[in-house]
Amino acid sequence: MKSITQHYINGRFTESHGTETMALIDPTNKNCIGQVSLGDEEDARAAIHAAQEAFPAFSRSSVAERAELLQRLHEAVLDREEDHIAARIEEYGGVSLHTRFSVRGAAKIFTNMKKTLEGYAFSKPLGKAVLSMKPVGVAGLITPWNAAIFMICNKLAPAIAAGCTAVVKPSEFSAIQTRVLAECIHAAGVPAGVVNLVNGRGDVVGAELVRNPLIAKFSFTGSTAVGKSILRGAADTVKRVTLELGGKSPHIVLDDADFDKAAAFALEAAFRNNGQACIAGSRLLVPEPRLKEMEAALLRALPSWKVGNTREEDTRIGPLVNEKQYARVQEYILKGRAEGAELLAGGPGHPSGLESGWFVKPTIFVKVENRMTIAREEIFGPVLCVIPYKTEEEAVRIANDTTYGLQGWISASDPARGLAVAERIEAGAVMINKSFDMLDEAGVPMGGFKQSGLGREFGVFGLEEYLEPQAVFV
Ligand code: NAD
Repeated sequence: MKSITQHYINGRFTESHGTETMALIDPTNKNCIGQVSLGDEEDARAAIHAAQEAFPAFSRSSVAERAELLQRLHEAVLDREEDHIAARIEEYGGVSLHTRFSVRGAAKIFTNMKKTLEGYAFSKPLGKAVLSMKPVGVAGLITPWNAAIFMICNKLAPAIAAGCTAVVKPSEFSAIQTRVLAECIHAAGVPAGVVNLVNGRGDVVGAELVRNPLIAKFSFTGSTAVGKSILRGAADTVKRVTLELGGKSPHIVLDDADFDKAAAFALEAAFRNNGQACIAGSRLLVPEPRLKEMEAALLRALPSWKVGNTREEDTRIGPLVNEKQYARVQEYILKGRAEGAELLAGGPGHPSGLESGWFVKPTIFVKVENRMTIAREEIFGPVLCVIPYKTEEEAVRIANDTTYGLQGWISASDPARGLAVAERIEAGAVMINKSFDMLDEAGVPMGGFKQSGLGREFGVFGLEEYLEPQAVFV
């Protein structure tokens, strides 16, 4: 049983002032594995105060000092690789292979940002002026539970590179994972007050960060509904805001694609990370005359997606994070049937033999129309909607007929054809034929069009979200 009673404030592990507690549940078996003390407004204000006090010195630190700090954070995260993995499996039900990839990715974010930092001109002449890029101030960082430490590192790295100090409010459902990361931050020797972490609820600790005038910059990853409320709340003090929100990403299968490869790719795009991925390719657009062919290919590919205990190496889909998420996904599956979509695989309830955890059946709906709720709203579970299209023109129209715009996926044999369609997708990134690891390309931005977000993360785009340009005329 783990008991997490402390926040990380001003370089120390500090007992929570807030007294509310929340049980931590292993989603694989619903066993209680510990409890976390949830902070209150006073904990949040103590962290903000520490970040504010640390800002003047840290904002004037040299690029070399911050680069060295990013390197130390990279090493500290890697030093605890096995602990991060164990925490993510226990608390979240992460699939082991994906979890290792995600933890190494979190460590790599720091060295990628170090590279960006070392090549960045903080000051340069611009006509008759000198342009200086200044750290914006104290950053409030709020993260979700589906890639907990990856998301925290993804926000801390650019904040540190820019010379900002930060207060992180992680998801209350990732307290064990966050504790391991806090120990890494401490071990890396981050100066006191530069990074502070406060566990707590969104409407308590999160809300204090949103309204507190000492927070100059906000970066939020989570649902579109909460993102919108943060944007409204941040307006009062004109905070700079970066939002990484939800998605309902289309995957267009062009008619020249190899359908077996496309089906395998479609399940990877839709079911990775237990389907709890903002970039999930959850709408599969298939040429109408070849629908039966695609259905057969999907059924051939599906058995390789074993659902079960993620402590077993060959498991590819684990449980959903908690009861609320399980209930939400069940509701969508029932709604899909009620609205007239047909089940090709899966359906309501638990897979047999897996009733003891928050497991759902990997589900594929066919005869889906893009107007149906299951095609419009983010389900955030392993549920794929197959939507037929008549022409390429119609495929692009359906793909873009969504309020979201985070990612697109394309299966095509002719790369030139794939590229031509990709350029017409309204989304921050498009993957053609394979999942490409964004972290292999340090400078590539990640972020959403439309209601999938505001601003970008990674590389120079991510760094500049924490900088304010100042023009000085001599
Ligand atoms: P969520 O929006 O419920 O919560 C995210 C965070 O916001 C949590 O830390 C939560 O405590 C906090 N929060 C909740 N209410 C708040 C409030 N009123 N004020 C301030 N903070 C508040 O999201 P979730 O369920 O944790 O995560 C799933 C969502 O995250 C999905 O919609 C997914 O698409 C999105 N997501 C987006 C990306 C991306 O990069 N675009 C990445 C991962 C997840």
